[in-house]
Amino acid sequence: MNNVKRYPTKKIFVGDVAIGGDAPISVQSMTYSKTSDVEATVEQIRALHFAGADIVRVAVPDLSAANALKAIKEQTSLPLVADIHFNYKLALIAAEVVDCIRINPGNIGDKKRVTEVVKACKQRNLPIRIGVNCGSLESQFEDKYGQTARGMVESADYNIKYLEDLGFDDIKVSLKASDVQRTVEAYRMLRPMNNYPFHLGVTEAGTQFHSTIKSSIALGSLLLDGIGDTLRVSMTGELEKEIEVGRAILKDAGLVQEGLNIISCPTCGRIEADLVSAVAEVEEKTKHIKTPLNVSVMGCVVNALGEAKAADVAIAYGKGVGLIIKKGETIAKLPTDQLLDRFLKEVEFEAKKESKN
Ligand code: SF4
Repeated sequence: MNNVKRYPTKKIFVGDVAIGGDAPISVQSMTYSKTSDVEATVEQIRALHFAGADIVRVAVPDLSAANALKAIKEQTSLPLVADIHFNYKLALIAAEVVDCIRINPGNIGDKKRVTEVVKACKQRNLPIRIGVNCGSLESQFEDKYGQTARGMVESADYNIKYLEDLGFDDIKVSLKASDVQRTVEAYRMLRPMNNYPFHLGVTEAGTQFHSTIKSSIALGSLLLDGIGDTLRVSMTGELEKEIEVGRAILKDAGLVQEGLNIISCPTCGRIEADLVSAVAEVEEKTKHIKTPLNVSVMGCVVNALGEAKAADVAIAYGKGVGLIIKKGETIAKLPTDQLLDRFLKEVEFEAKKESKN
């Protein structure tokens, strides 16, 4: 059940993906190949697409990267965001090809140059992401506020108004710091100040382990506050994992109902079966199921019966035998080695039944 009331934001479109308003919260990532290496970049984009990404961003640091965008776009179908700093000419080249531009108007140069970029984006209905990073605040904000949440919010507000003054409001905003507290504080502070959709993320969040924790805390806190319209989990050297974790955050925050929610105990000295292998097998063999189902796989009867009450299908392992329970009712008592097969059959059956309803 989803009790989260999302902050009402303006709906924008990155290609055919809606962001904000009542659109589902999208998950995105960024390639780490040299964008000028078309083959490698296309390969990474396809891997992200296969992993379930909704949108992909590529860095455009130089002319060869900007010139590669057309070939990349022709060979991929995910909406493409060009990430540009400082050089408005690169933004102009990118705007002819991609689906969204990430710039900070404040670091693009004088107003004439920003106006040209805005004009190019308007012509093709491209949104602009204002991407504030705590580590690269404009000096006027860093000097006054330091690398703080307030500094990020002031920078975002300045950049938003810069675009609004040019008659442009096809905007989304991100406010990323490399730690949880500043990230959360900044998004919460900026949220009531406008209704643009927010792209959530903790920047430079580190390795898979640390990024998963930081992103889960920060993005989870914000999402449960109703803040966030698209997100990126940033991980050192990982692509598909970013998407997997991003999707899991949405699912475990209760914002997306998709696939199995597997409840399994941590095991202890009362364990009656090889639960670790059993849960791994359940996870592997039910990956394809998109129907939302609650299942529980518990190592002994102590808590299994309680958990089974709320589960669509459950296993309660006992001494040499165990129970299969469906929606609180015991439907079979079987020897331990037959339990998993029966459980998986019942899960498939329930998934098919539910998807027809
Ligand atoms: Fe231990 Fe049983 Fe609880 Fe699992 S369900 S943690 S085996 S008491």
